[in-house]
Amino acid sequence: MAILVDGFGRKFPYLRLSLTEACNFRCSYCLPDGYQANGRPIFLDRDEIRRLLHAFAGLGMRKVRLTGGEPSLRKDLPEIIAIAASTPGVRKVAMTTNGCLLLNKVRQWREAGLTALNVSVDSLDPQRFHAITGHDRFDEVIEGVELALGLGFDAVKLNAVLLRGRNDDELPAWMDYLRERDISIRFIELMRTGDNKAYFERHHVRAEVLEQQLQQAGWMLTPRAADAGPAREYAHPAYRGRIGIIAPYSKDFCAGCNRLRVTARGDLRLCLFGEFGIPLRPLLQSDADHEALMGRIATQLGLKAAGHGLHQGNSGITPHLASIGG
Ligand code: SAM
Ligand code: SF4
Repeated sequence: MAILVDGFGRKFPYLRLSLTEACNFRCSYCLPDGYQANGRPIFLDRDEIRRLLHAFAGLGMRKVRLTGGEPSLRKDLPEIIAIAASTPGVRKVAMTTNGCLLLNKVRQWREAGLTALNVSVDSLDPQRFHAITGHDRFDEVIEGVELALGLGFDAVKLNAVLLRGRNDDELPAWMDYLRERDISIRFIELMRTGDNKAYFERHHVRAEVLEQQLQQAGWMLTPRAADAGPAREYAHPAYRGRIGIIAPYSKDFCAGCNRLRVTARGDLRLCLFGEFGIPLRPLLQSDADHEALMGRIATQLGLKAAGHGLHQGNSGITPHLASIGG
């Protein structure tokens, strides 16, 4: 079977698929004014998603992550999870969510075939969580995480965007949280997007600062698994949980990047910060276009650039990550 490989030798077993641009949260670094619908956007429907996943799986994709916007706002999410889980070749179906519906829905998602879950929790302090996300829902999100931990997922991970003056002093609290829990927290360095320039300048902090604190506290870098994402993961014998660092501004971040993205409108995006999207939607309308669709994906992959231009302050066409699927 053909495997997706680009001109730099990178393989692409992993697809991030955005299900919607809509979101009910107002994270200060992403959608500070909330989601503004532009007309009546129509996002990929279930048949389009099924054809898309079959084509990527035919080219070697083994893991799909459902994201957004907020993927759990899709009423047909359980059906979409089931489509992904039953795609031949797909072994892992993950989702990234703000956790707003976890308590009510996570059991149903698990039963539909979801195998891994990432929940965004930017602070362990309920008031800070409220200030960052615009929603006073820390307690229910964390209760949802506790519920998910008992459902037999391959992995439950938390994401926190590291923000100067907002949550960059919480490492000790996170360590307490991780002591007895089999969970990993990923600190993501704030990325500059088209819409957040001033915010970025105020709140960006290098992930390396946190990494030094970790090393001083005796945390050790773990070996990178073959299909691992871009996180550098740390462990400590006295803690059950792990801490990951995602540092998009570090040298070599792009060299190991195996991310392919498809937006909720069906555009293939080769880099989060790329300059262009490749429309796949015209080839998602009929099962008869399966071969043509695989051909378009495979050809375009040759164009995945060696690295993004973030260091040059170039954030491509991405206004905020909710628009592409972070
Ligand atoms: N709504 C879901 C959520 O928040 O988990 C999924 C989509 S969200 C765009 C995916 C991830 O991107 C979240 O963990 C979020 O914190 C992160 N994110 C959004 N904007 C970011 C930025 N400018 N820099 C770094 N991470 C960002
Ligand atoms: Fe919504 Fe996720 Fe963006 Fe927050 S980070 S505004 S939850 S899409």
